[in-house]
Amino acid sequence: MSKPYPFVETSPWLSTPSDPQPALDRDLAADVVIIGGGYTGLSAALSLRAAGVDVVVLEKDFSGSGASGRNAGHLTPTIGKDLPTTLRIFGQKRASALVRFADAAVEFTEEVIEKNQIDCDYVASGNIVAGLHPKHAPTLEKAAQTARGLGAEVRYLAPGEMRERGLPPAFLCGVLEERGGTLNPGRYVAGLRAAAMRAGVRLFEGTSVLGLDDGEKVTARTPGGNVTANHAVIATNAYTKHLGRRKRDVAPLRVSLFETEPLSEAQLDELGWPGREGIYTAHEALENFRLTAHGTLTGGSKVVRYRYGSALPPGYDPGAFDAIERAFRERFPMLTDVKVANFWGGWIGLTMDLLPQFGVEGSHHNVHFGIGFNGHGIAQATQVGAMLAEQILGNAHPHSRALKRKLRSWPPEPLRWLGAQAINRGLAIVDARTDRQIRKL
Ligand SMILES: Cc1cc2nc3c(=O)[nH]c(=O)nc-3n(C[C@H](O)[C@H](O)[C@H](O)COP(=O)(O)OP(=O)(O)OC[C@H]3O[C@@H](n4cnc5c(N)ncnc54)[C@H](O)[C@@H]3O)c2cc1C
Repeated sequence: MSKPYPFVETSPWLSTPSDPQPALDRDLAADVVIIGGGYTGLSAALSLRAAGVDVVVLEKDFSGSGASGRNAGHLTPTIGKDLPTTLRIFGQKRASALVRFADAAVEFTEEVIEKNQIDCDYVASGNIVAGLHPKHAPTLEKAAQTARGLGAEVRYLAPGEMRERGLPPAFLCGVLEERGGTLNPGRYVAGLRAAAMRAGVRLFEGTSVLGLDDGEKVTARTPGGNVTANHAVIATNAYTKHLGRRKRDVAPLRVSLFETEPLSEAQLDELGWPGREGIYTAHEALENFRLTAHGTLTGGSKVVRYRYGSALPPGYDPGAFDAIERAFRERFPMLTDVKVANFWGGWIGLTMDLLPQFGVEGSHHNVHFGIGFNGHGIAQATQVGAMLAEQILGNAHPHSRALKRKLRSWPPEPLRWLGAQAINRGLAIVDARTDRQIRKL
């Protein structure tokens, strides 16, 4: 029998707000109704309020209770799987536009944090894709070259430079993404929520949208009343299928994370890592690690779960917890005495081509959607929220074109499930081989 793991239902980054907003209990009219109170929905709401638009946000639980309050906190310009793959799929022109979009998304998020004075422990440390075996060095060096050719601000870090930067010894070489860094995602989304409320957004929490009815005016139906609006925004990311619209855009994948107990001064000294760069490994299914402002080390990923029919896979996942704790122990042997204090996780929204789905639909072209951030949504969901606002206002956002393409849906079941199993198994075999090679070093 597996050991009991210390499991947090939502995430240790945030707790239920001290000022929960009421559930909708009557019919309302608004200019825009937004479904989902994560980064996308709140960012769209803030941008619309700045233009004087009357906005209602409907959130089934509380704002931030989705991926936005649960994630690992790497503010990253990563787009697609990686840039060499993005280049192969989309060609030079679009891949360069996507790099510009992703860079601008990081910059925009930094501006949002600053403008709204959100205290979210943001450290502009950059993030490193780290190689763990000498075989990763040539691949990463080439990836850095490709990325630079597309205009990305990245740099290959040879083993000597990794050591000079004082990075933990398991991480041999890397590609430094110079833009971005790490933040506390719970504080970031709580700050957006507070800013939206200050700006006059009408927020209803504990309010599940059961369906959206098309028309010149769109109607969002909830158990306590309906909101009728000129425009609706779908900002439900991994949960979208359950709304009954755009059901095959996004496959929800469960990703698990851990956090250690606070490290002592002596343990932090032994660890090094003075630049506090975020780290993701060069595995096919990456591991991620970072330090927090409250003195803990957090990380995870590595194992992703898909459930038949895009149902949400359950949260308590001993197999995943075991794998991520093992990875932590292997990468940080100097922290053997440190206990893991929390495990938790959330659902990322995966799209077929690993790019966000952004656009407008409905019989009257007034149902706008921004979903499917593929695990990179801190920056991209914030940016897409602002792009949704511009789309509603009838303005062309400079980065909208980068995401305009023929949108692809996941195949129906059982193909989707079979495909997910095959891909997962394939990646796990490659990563298991890599891990065996690393252990032999
Ligand atoms: C474990 C994990 C680690 C991650 N790590 C990173 C990272 O390090 N860096 C990064 O950039 N990204 C990361 N991500 C991805 C990032 O968190 C997401 O891309 C981002 O939060 C998406 O924001 P969102 O607002 O679109 O979705 P969400 O935050 O999920 O918000 C959607 C909201 O809609 C609500 N909702 C759903 N259905 C309904 C309905 N019918 N009615 C009313 N409300 C509804 C939900 O309750 C939820 O609050 C990670 C995600 C996970 C799960």
